[in-house]
Amino acid sequence: MPDSAVQPVNPDVNTEARHWSGLFASWRSVRQAVQFSVDLVFPPRCAGCGRVDAEWCAACQRALNDTPFPAKVSPLPPLAGVASTAQHSGLIREAVQALKYDGARGMGAVLGARLARHLAAQSWDCEMIVPVPLHTIRLQERGYNQSQELSNTVAAITGLRCIPEALARSRMTESQVMMSAVERLSNVRNAFSAQSALVRNQNVLLIDDVYTTGATLRACGDALLAAGATAVYGLTVTVARI
Ligand SMILES: [Zn+2]
Repeated sequence: MPDSAVQPVNPDVNTEARHWSGLFASWRSVRQAVQFSVDLVFPPRCAGCGRVDAEWCAACQRALNDTPFPAKVSPLPPLAGVASTAQHSGLIREAVQALKYDGARGMGAVLGARLARHLAAQSWDCEMIVPVPLHTIRLQERGYNQSQELSNTVAAITGLRCIPEALARSRMTESQVMMSAVERLSNVRNAFSAQSALVRNQNVLLIDDVYTTGATLRACGDALLAAGATAVYGLTVTVARI
């Protein structure tokens, strides 16, 4: 058998693969160099204490670990249970604000880990996670849904499925920051719609960043139950009272 029989069918393939892997390697180096320069000019500041360090420093992580979980939040209908990992103040408030308004996407992993720890202490039988959806316009402005970032981490830690497609925000709602409890309820009523094929006969865990009056979680709960979900629970990073 001639030597050529043991040669690769097309020797150019190897050359081409080396060419591409070389290109990717140089692209990686360029990206790393750019990131290094950005870090030099705009060094990362901790979302908790503002010190130039990492996006979230070790001291703030220790303080977060030491923050006790608050007493249970009384669930309002139609929710079967509600829990929040802290009062909306101090360090954890800073972390939530950074995730929500300052583009600190990495805080989703930090705060999501805390959500997973608190979830483990609940006696809930949840089968799937659904993040509270953002309207498409808000999603485009922010670039990501903070509830989805939190949910991804909880799903990765617990092994529960995260199904964002199960719930959609069917109409744009006003920002609720300045609204009373009654105004919030009417603001979000019928703002969500759920997919029966995804939620029927399921115990659903809704995840959001802040619980204020519960209006948003309750409206999501109504939509999920109307689509055939068995029970809906709500888990948030913080609980704020207005
Ligand atoms: Zn810090």
